[in-house]
Amino acid sequence: MNLVLLGPPGAGKGSLAGLLKEALGISHISTGDILRDEMAKNSLLGQEAKNYMERGELVPDELVTKIVRQKLVVNGAGEKGFMLDGFPRTKVQAEELDKILIEAKKPIDYILYMESTLPVILNRLTGRRVCRKCGALFHLKNKPPKQQGICNECGGELQQRKDDQEDTIRHRIDVYKENIRPIVDYYKRQGKLEIVNGDKETKDVQQALLKKINADGKCN
Ligand code: AMP
Repeated sequence: MNLVLLGPPGAGKGSLAGLLKEALGISHISTGDILRDEMAKNSLLGQEAKNYMERGELVPDELVTKIVRQKLVVNGAGEKGFMLDGFPRTKVQAEELDKILIEAKKPIDYILYMESTLPVILNRLTGRRVCRKCGALFHLKNKPPKQQGICNECGGELQQRKDDQEDTIRHRIDVYKENIRPIVDYYKRQGKLEIVNGDKETKDVQQALLKKINADGKCN
């Protein structure tokens, strides 16, 4: 099962990916997570990406496309499939992805477009906290950790992402809006787009999706 998750920051792509990973055993490839790891390691790629990311700008297409190609073609992605989260973010990336998928011989089953409204996005992202150690996601109101500031999973320290400050969130959404329409049109023309209400609880979105996957006979 190969999926692409599209949607604005805060639409719930990461949370949905976490649930689907458990349910379907497919690997989660988040270009944002990979870039943050590279930043933490202070690698050349991380240093190059840092300025763009902290300002809420997109990292150049060439850099992110290379990462995805490495994952899908060179590393082979997951045995049971994969979900791409946060890629493609421009039409150029969508076109490059099609070439990568042909090279990797991994056709996409669903492209999920998670639509979400601004108040929901702002609430989710300003309250989001991430474990520094294992990357587990929490929310100050909707999913608070058992102990303040501490990850339930591994005891790591929780932090707010630099780009989850309200000004940067608004800028990321503007950047998203500038780029999403051509991507959506591109996939609509290919007849692959499924529109999902990202304002709903993630577990409801997951259940509806699993039902559809079953009904379509696409389960592994
Ligand atoms: P995310 O975790 O998906 O919200 O991504 C965080 C940041 O990483 C974005 O605001 C961009 O700066 C960068 N990024 C992640 N994925 C991409 C991509 N496909 N293209 C360009 N920049 C990206």
